Amino acid sequence: MKIKCTCKHAFQDGEYGKGIRVVTPIDKSKHPQTHKIQRVRCTACGKEHDAPNAELRPTDAALSRQVAPRT
Ligand SMILES: [Zn+2]
Repeated sequence: MKIKCTCKHAFQDGEYGKGIRVVTPIDKSKHPQTHKIQRVRCTACGKEHDAPNAELRPTDAALSRQVAPRT
C-alpha cells in the first residue's frame, strides 16, 4: 500500500515517486462493523494517515481470489 506523505525519504522518492511512501495498515483502526482499515502508518516517518480506501487491507489479496475482480 502506498500513499503520499510529506516526509523526506530519498530512497522511496527514487523508488516510488516523489512523496510516495509505503504505509502499513493500523490494525487497531479497523471499523468495528465493516472491519475496514481506517488508518495507515508511513513506514518512513511513522506518521498516521487516513487509509485511502479499504481495498488495501492485507487480506484483500486472499479475498480477491474468491470473488470477481472489482472494476
Ligand atoms: Zn512519512
